[in-house]
Amino acid sequence: MAGVMTDADYNVLVVGGGPGGATAATFLARGGLSVAIAEREAFPRFRVGESLVPNCMPILERLGVLDRIKGHGFQPKFGVTFHDQETALEHSFSFREGRPWPSFTFDVHRAEFDAILLDHAAREPGVTRLQPATVEKVAFDAEGATVRVSDADGERELRARFLVDASGRDAFLASRQGRRRPMPGLGKVALFAYYRGARRWPGREEGNVRIYIFPEGWFWWIPLARDETSLGCVLHSRVVRGWQGTPAALFQAMIERCHRVREGLAGAEAVTPVHTAANFAYTVEPVGGSRFLCVGDAVAFVDPIFSAGVFLAMASGELAAREILGAFREGRFEARRFARYERAFHRGMKPFVRFIEHYYDPLFLEIFLKPKDAFGMVDAVTFVLAGGAFRRIPLRLRLGLGAFFAVVRTTRWARRRRGLSPESRLEW
Ligand SMILES: Cc1cc2nc3c(=O)[nH]c(=O)nc-3n(C[C@H](O)[C@H](O)[C@H](O)COP(=O)(O)OP(=O)(O)OC[C@H]3O[C@@H](n4cnc5c(N)ncnc54)[C@H](O)[C@@H]3O)c2cc1C
Repeated sequence: MAGVMTDADYNVLVVGGGPGGATAATFLARGGLSVAIAEREAFPRFRVGESLVPNCMPILERLGVLDRIKGHGFQPKFGVTFHDQETALEHSFSFREGRPWPSFTFDVHRAEFDAILLDHAAREPGVTRLQPATVEKVAFDAEGATVRVSDADGERELRARFLVDASGRDAFLASRQGRRRPMPGLGKVALFAYYRGARRWPGREEGNVRIYIFPEGWFWWIPLARDETSLGCVLHSRVVRGWQGTPAALFQAMIERCHRVREGLAGAEAVTPVHTAANFAYTVEPVGGSRFLCVGDAVAFVDPIFSAGVFLAMASGELAAREILGAFREGRFEARRFARYERAFHRGMKPFVRFIEHYYDPLFLEIFLKPKDAFGMVDAVTFVLAGGAFRRIPLRLRLGLGAFFAVVRTTRWARRRRGLSPESRLEW
């Protein structure tokens, strides 16, 4: 391949071996490049974010790991159920047939899912796995990057011609040499834990992710294999600011206030401590530059409501690999070469951001939870929620989405005219 030189230890060094890094490394090596993945933690390691979207499945297939994932025993998922405690509205969305992805996906123990993906990447000829190994520092020059890596044997320097930042919410490069910008209104806090023996539903509904909205925020309820359930609560910052006790006590208090969760947990036992994540909504700048690209959470994370994180990490990992392989073929590594990647990432993420921002508006929820199938609105909504926005959204579905948001706008206008001003919970 033109542009591949031998004076570097590796063509590409990938910082982080989560879904984004493992996906990028696999496709890069398959394209003929030598790749090192440096992963700080020994796997399997705990990670929140267990619910996948169906559009992950074609990527897993292209990676050549789908059969392994299917055979592992993860909990199949056919849809999502929303319930709003205030209005008692409930609606289940099922993933539809006839799409470029299957009508199901999985709820996964991330420790196991991530370990399978990283192991699969490491089996690809041309991939070297450095683990546990932490990337401490990177300095770029015209020919590539000098990377300082520390592991059990101490520190050493490696040379790579290109760097992929797949370091997750650490956002390695942006935190050191760029900017990480919080997203206004989304400074939420999440508390979460695993339970055994929580309520299960029969048949295809068993794996449905359940979203329980209540006045202080919302819960995710993700049924996992082996009778485990990931339960998490995303709280408005104002609720957390006013709390004097421990996070575990706050979590328990919220369980008591959310009736569906409290009832579903009757007889269940917690099998992990309560974990917390705060202020997780941000974007970074720059997303790419001369000799580097960022993928997955190292580019942005918005909100877990629509389970897009793992999909965006894998989709951007694949997209980044394609651009980097092109750059090596052309021998061009300047920042401008990668502008297309940044545009594609933001285009793929945009519909999720739009839904997330509206989701905190009670009025939107009212319409979302009573969707009418007129103008293909439900079709359009499930297309986006399945992860469809990374490809070109067909015109019919774009019109359906337009109709959906027009209904939201009209209803909001009508409510204002009647003197009812629904407050968005976004800024809470
Ligand atoms: C509360 C919450 C709930 C969520 N729920 C969902 C969900 O239901 N579904 C979903 O799809 N997503 C969910 N997500 C998001 C999802 O977890 C992430 O989007 C996903 O893990 C991103 O993958 P990644 O590969 O970019 O990063 P990560 O999975 O975070 O992987 C990054 C890796 O980089 C390593 N690393 C970091 N720094 C260094 C370094 N300097 N050197 C070496 N290694 C390093 C880390 O150890 C880590 O293993 C949720 C997120 C939050 C906060």
